[in-house]
Amino acid sequence: MPTKHFVFCQSDLVLERSAEGYTIPITNPVDLKPWTTVINANGAKTYRIDTPITDHSRYEMCPLRQSYYQLSEEDYLLAGKCHELLYWDQNTKFCGCCGGHMHFDTDISKKCEHCGKEVWPQLATAVIVLVRRHVSENPVTMKEEILLVHANNFRDDHYGLVAGFVETGETLEEAVHREVLEETGIHIKNLRYFASQPWPYPCGLMVGFTADYDGGRIHLQRSELSKGSWFDCEHLPHIPEKLSIARWLIDAWLEDKNKD
Ligand SMILES: [Zn+2]
Repeated sequence: MPTKHFVFCQSDLVLERSAEGYTIPITNPVDLKPWTTVINANGAKTYRIDTPITDHSRYEMCPLRQSYYQLSEEDYLLAGKCHELLYWDQNTKFCGCCGGHMHFDTDISKKCEHCGKEVWPQLATAVIVLVRRHVSENPVTMKEEILLVHANNFRDDHYGLVAGFVETGETLEEAVHREVLEETGIHIKNLRYFASQPWPYPCGLMVGFTADYDGGRIHLQRSELSKGSWFDCEHLPHIPEKLSIARWLIDAWLEDKNKD
């Protein structure tokens, strides 16, 4: 297997143009100096450069998020891992206990040269949930709706699912119940695990669930959400892009609806 070279300038990734599209460079891109960090991960090499590549005959910069649509899933996931390691490296230059310099001990751990403290990359774990409710109890006319919200930090007008970070001392399930109640005033039941997704923006792990409505009226937490409502499958608003687990949850629900 040729070594893949993941070169980042902030969160933009260097891709190589080819006749078939874009790929991760497999030759050491020596003309991309100066890089400041080289990290090995899964047989791939990761570099950080300070200035973006422009007007190059072979290479161009692509935001990590957008590389999802250019690369194989395997390469996109590896790019995410490399980006998380670079972020971690940049944020652990010094020991949190004594201020000493931290050096790589293994490919994914560092050790303080002064006090010997060891650190590993830390994940920010977040939960995300698709909440369903039946509009009517009549099995003939029974329609299902899902709870969608627009968070204040969304960059465009799309709606997503309720999500939030897991707090210290909390189970994933407790976090889901708490987030839904805090953000929307809704009680849920029948919580089921769906899937998880590394979210390297910059160091997250998204854990996805489905759940059923169990009572309450929507009352939005305005510090987090600007809009939120129940939507049926025929009247969905603008939903998240295919890259995200939020979209996988919604697509799985739609697929399930179509089977009915
Ligand atoms: Zn130390």
